Amino acid sequence: MGQHSPAKQIAVEGVHVYGNRWIRGSAVLAAAMMMVATMGQAKTAPPKPPRWMNTKLSADARATMLQRMMTLDEKIAILHGHSPLLWHETPQDLLWASGYVAGVPRLGIPALRETDAGLGVTNPLGKRQDQGSTVLPSGLAAASTWNPTLAREGGAMLGTEAHENGFNVVLAGGINLARDPRNGRNFEYAGEDPLLAGVIVGNVVAGIQSKDEISTLKHYALNDQETGRFIADVEIDESAARESDLLAFELAIEGGAPGSIMCSYNKVWTFYACENDILLNKILKQDWRYPGFVMSDWGGTHSTEMAAINGLDQEDGEEFDGHSYFAAPLEAAAKAGRVPKARINDMVHRILRTMFETGVIDRPAAPATIDYDADAAVSQRIAEQAIVLLKNTNGRLPLATNLARVAVISGHADMGILGGGGGSSEVTPHGGYTFRIHHYEGDFDVNENYMGPAPLKTIIARLPDSKVEYNDGTNIAAAAAMAKDADVAIVFATQWTSESVDAPNLSLAGDQDALIAAVAAANPRTIVVLETSGPVLMPWLNNVEGVLEAWYSGSRGGEAIARVLFGEVDPSSRLPITFPMSEAQLPRPELPGYASMLEARKTSGNPHAPPPPFTINYFEGANVGYRWYESRKLTPLFPFGFGLSYTSFSYANLKVEGGHTLTVSFDVTNTGTRAGYDTPEIYATCELEGMNSIRHLIGWNKLLLNPGQTQHVSIAADPRLLANFDETAHVWKIIGGTYRAELGRFAGDAALSGEAKLQASQMRP
Ligand code: BGC
Repeated sequence: MGQHSPAKQIAVEGVHVYGNRWIRGSAVLAAAMMMVATMGQAKTAPPKPPRWMNTKLSADARATMLQRMMTLDEKIAILHGHSPLLWHETPQDLLWASGYVAGVPRLGIPALRETDAGLGVTNPLGKRQDQGSTVLPSGLAAASTWNPTLAREGGAMLGTEAHENGFNVVLAGGINLARDPRNGRNFEYAGEDPLLAGVIVGNVVAGIQSKDEISTLKHYALNDQETGRFIADVEIDESAARESDLLAFELAIEGGAPGSIMCSYNKVWTFYACENDILLNKILKQDWRYPGFVMSDWGGTHSTEMAAINGLDQEDGEEFDGHSYFAAPLEAAAKAGRVPKARINDMVHRILRTMFETGVIDRPAAPATIDYDADAAVSQRIAEQAIVLLKNTNGRLPLATNLARVAVISGHADMGILGGGGGSSEVTPHGGYTFRIHHYEGDFDVNENYMGPAPLKTIIARLPDSKVEYNDGTNIAAAAAMAKDADVAIVFATQWTSESVDAPNLSLAGDQDALIAAVAAANPRTIVVLETSGPVLMPWLNNVEGVLEAWYSGSRGGEAIARVLFGEVDPSSRLPITFPMSEAQLPRPELPGYASMLEARKTSGNPHAPPPPFTINYFEGANVGYRWYESRKLTPLFPFGFGLSYTSFSYANLKVEGGHTLTVSFDVTNTGTRAGYDTPEIYATCELEGMNSIRHLIGWNKLLLNPGQTQHVSIAADPRLLANFDETAHVWKIIGGTYRAELGRFAGDAALSGEAKLQASQMRP
């Protein structure tokens, strides 16, 4: 037995842990000691917990003590994890879910039981006996609220349901920037702006972790499309990455302190993200001083020594790697000194300090009764503030409740709402699916799931004296005929996307555009409700009176949609992503790797064949989304930040102050006749030599105002948002001079603007 022998460690500490109870030595020895101790006295002091269980000590101090007690075998055990669905073992403390990392019972280190929960706690392949989960609106929908408090509430709901199912790791906190609206996973993320995404997702993470869970910010980094996700190599200037995709991560880490970061599948600057020294060591751990651990995506580990030395702390879902890089090979590499002992200890320390910091050890997750009604109410609140009113002419909305005839058409509106996309985030809703369509896409066997109260039902509930008819839209002529004499026709359109496959284009699938056009031709009083992953094209836009973007709106989406349609709540959401006029407006009109993937599939006859290796060149740099449109002077269909309300607001008394940063203050007044939320947005721009002159978001506020009410708002920008990242000097640099701040309702809407001077300054990354 060597230095790390378990027997020696037990002798030193003499402590065993079973669940939450601490006993000294073996159970028999403990019982004997207890008998001796109790002779002649009524009570004995409870056994003393080990030093690292002292909650007054810092997470780091506790992790250091505990790490010192571990044998090399025990250390290696917590550095690699399994996919229960593919693993041949079923330890007693395993929960059927996405991941499992063994604990060290001898020392009271619990297993990590990992669940995906982007939109709700998942149950892959339905292997676990549970009652389903509450489904939140999509990540993009959460970003549409522009409401950090609601995002945090949603995270707390996810954390609660994960905890009450017995999980201690929530694989949620998706934040990849929407560089391409066709990305099949955009619904899991928070849009195209680093500030909005960073603040919203940081709050989701903080909410999850407020429930004694570890949250996982993912997928680090630049994993911005699904096509070729395992092999694509991203090229981008480091400074541009720091000012866009990486900034979103940086802000979310600062706001949410996620215990873990999941590195992505793709390559960046020729190296896989999970063995990428620049991304993991230099940027994440050195520059940002990130203290948590980096876990690999399932199938994202490609090496032992290189990955360990370049910053990966834990190999997860190793069955997907086809090889256990961090099991025996890491132990051998550690013994041979090819991975330094200090690095192994650092990996272990990061995992343990996260477990202490988040409460995973002190307040362990255990099955408990879930309050589904309370959780569904959270989901509905988010949905109500996530539905964006994109068009409303002739005051068609909100709908009156005395309409004689209403036609409801297609989108399975008689069954439920589309409750998410496919892939690892697919949730089994509490209360069950109301309708499913089976798909086999990319690497996954997945379903298009409908759930919750059906819009048809929630609309009928508000029109008890009206004739409300439904047509499923498969016969376009019949649907148009039904719509013709209605007071209003409401067409539901869906776009289902999935992890591992991108949308081939931005058109609504099948005949949906033709259906909407035909209904609108028959009856101009047409409202379109979109249930989409992200932006879609709207060739019929000029011929309809109303458009609502409802995204994937969660367990109570059907209720939230009706409340917005009938004006029970004022629509207050703003687009977190630009809607293009056509794919031709995108930086890459053709999705990189898409054509070669189709070719590979055709020639191989394998419908799931990946494309040959390729590079994605993000030549637009930090000009993502709306910044790209401005840089090319393109007018999109709907701009970033756009969204209408049933009331109106005005802005006055703008004051812009300079110095170290821009501070913008102004008054907002509700000039309409009903209460509503406004979201004043502040964008900055400057014409200084050496600065990116394209305007970008530097702050916003979301405030509820009664009719006639005025509120004063003051917003100070994070100075990094006004700086360039200077790669050579390795600093954020503000060039001294005049900067302009614009106050408006969307990107490019300068309702009021002002200027102020900033001092030259530098900030370390
Ligand atoms: C996804 C991750 C997910 C993991 C575990 C991967 O396919 O990219 O987002 O957390 O699977 O299910």
